[in-house]
Amino acid sequence: MSLKQLFKKKQADPNQLTLDDLFGQTSDVSPPPSTVPDTPIPPGHRRLRLDNLNLDYRLLRSKRKTIGFLIDDDGLRVTAPRWVTVAEIEAAIASKQQWIFRKMNEQRERSVRRLQPPMEWRDGATLPYLGLDITVRVADASNAGVRFDEAARELHVSLPASASEQQLKDRVQGWLQSEAKRVFAERLAIYAEKLGVSFRSFALSSASTQWGSCTADGRIRLNWRLMHFALPNIDYVVAHELSHLREMNHGPQFWATVQSVLPEFETARKALRDHEPEFLPKF
Ligand SMILES: [Zn+2]
Repeated sequence: MSLKQLFKKKQADPNQLTLDDLFGQTSDVSPPPSTVPDTPIPPGHRRLRLDNLNLDYRLLRSKRKTIGFLIDDDGLRVTAPRWVTVAEIEAAIASKQQWIFRKMNEQRERSVRRLQPPMEWRDGATLPYLGLDITVRVADASNAGVRFDEAARELHVSLPASASEQQLKDRVQGWLQSEAKRVFAERLAIYAEKLGVSFRSFALSSASTQWGSCTADGRIRLNWRLMHFALPNIDYVVAHELSHLREMNHGPQFWATVQSVLPEFETARKALRDHEPEFLPKF
């Protein structure tokens, strides 16, 4: 399936309501569920009427000098100095309502994702590979192994019908790791040449908190889970670690080095920083 098809599919799916649908071009703001009218006010909350919506919030008085807004799983929390009146606080909320509703929707989407059941490892399961979903196809074929059909974006895994979920996971993980070795080696060669550096060795890591590392003597480690991301994000980590062979720090010279080979590195950096861990399949 092409990127375009995926996009169309997403657009056509009425359940896939994006934030752009909610906040794209119009000034209409759809109410998050916490603003459904005529529900009892939760304990410790205040209720503010905004146009035709109810917005419940918690008010905390503090020594701070300005009014602060925070959105968490309990909704909106407002922190305000003791001398500010409720009317002033509610005027401040009203002036920030677009931002508040957008953040509340984002928060709600995150909690919904957290509640989603974990991926089921079976025929038809999907997982991200180089930034796009691929479908796992399990068949009891005579040739043991894993074969990727790039045109169909299907990963064919040969396993007997009696195979366990763990066996399927292991096969897919093994394939992703061999792909990681191949792709990372290619990208390392490209960026090492661009940067005019050479590295001593490269190995895969599976650290949960780190995408890559580089030692002063040129040993590079890259997380195989990067294979879930689009190539520009992988290139950023590759260029980042190789740039350490010129600048063993994160100073301005270091970032200038990364930028010299990857001008739009900030986009990739942000994508990796903002990714939701629960989006990645668990092996
Ligand atoms: Zn670094």
